[in-house]
Amino acid sequence: MRLQETRWLLRMKNATLDPDEVLSAAEEQMFGLGNSGFCVSCGEEQDGVDPDGRGDECECCGEEAVYGAQELVLMGYAG
Ligand SMILES: [Zn+2]
Repeated sequence: MRLQETRWLLRMKNATLDPDEVLSAAEEQMFGLGNSGFCVSCGEEQDGVDPDGRGDECECCGEEAVYGAQELVLMGYAG
């Protein structure tokens, strides 16, 4: 595994996402009320993310670590 990849995975584990926030954002996406995603690197919530978005660039930290809320639920971030 490349070093860069390892660093990214480590940061991912350190990101603090609120499971309740992820879940409610996913529900909003499901009912067409919103399209938020979260950066798993810095934890920042972002608008305009596809429900199944993976690895979009973060407006806050610049990492390609923004995932759609529904995708995060599938990944186990909703607790
Ligand atoms: Zn970020």
